[in-house]
Amino acid sequence: MNGPEIFVSVVPELELFVPHTRRGGAAVALVTDGVSTLGHVIESLGVPLTEVGALVVDGREVAFGHIPVAGERVEVRAVVRPQRVEGAPLRFLLDVHLGTLARRLRLLGVDSAYESTDIGDPALATRSAAERRVMLSRDRGLLRRRELWAGAYVYSDRPDEQLRDVLGRFTPELRPWTRCTACNGLLREARKEDVADRLEGGTRGTYDVFAQCRACGRVYWRGAHHDRLEGIVERAVAEFGG
Ligand SMILES: [Zn+2]
Repeated sequence: MNGPEIFVSVVPELELFVPHTRRGGAAVALVTDGVSTLGHVIESLGVPLTEVGALVVDGREVAFGHIPVAGERVEVRAVVRPQRVEGAPLRFLLDVHLGTLARRLRLLGVDSAYESTDIGDPALATRSAAERRVMLSRDRGLLRRRELWAGAYVYSDRPDEQLRDVLGRFTPELRPWTRCTACNGLLREARKEDVADRLEGGTRGTYDVFAQCRACGRVYWRGAHHDRLEGIVERAVAEFGG
């Protein structure tokens, strides 16, 4: 590029996205092409625009469409938490790598669609737009797609941290034990006699409280994994409200 030189600084929360030479908070020179928008320039540095809360030029916030002019000093700020998503009920779409996070969000009653097969970035982005779901991903290329309704980078590769990341960022309403962890369908209470044919003999004898998924028919009861799941629910509700 051979155009105006600007000076760009990135807040610490976003430093993981940019080259090492641009970390540490200092404003580092960058030569632009004179026609690209500032949003495009920042995205080209590696920062997904889903993670940018504001672009501040010489102390004044500008739109992503701002065309940089020589000598401008640009500060790239992180999205403010909690983040409000306007225009539709809060619901999510998770990519193929986030299956554990999807099941935990469903356990907490958060509407979380998940593709267990890799349907490809265009199809995911299209579904995000069609169903107005916030796309959750660790794939920066996917988060750059313009079709997305909304998106968010998931900062950790550990499910516990991923869950705290998403709950803290979007503060969804938590309604534990209301959703099928397998398919995201809503659960209804079920009588033992109505679900008996779906149960093993031992389960039929030992447990009394049942729920059934309205969508896929799967039956839930307080069984072997319940204590571990209860722990996940209790920690989430204690920190992020019920
Ligand atoms: Zn289900």
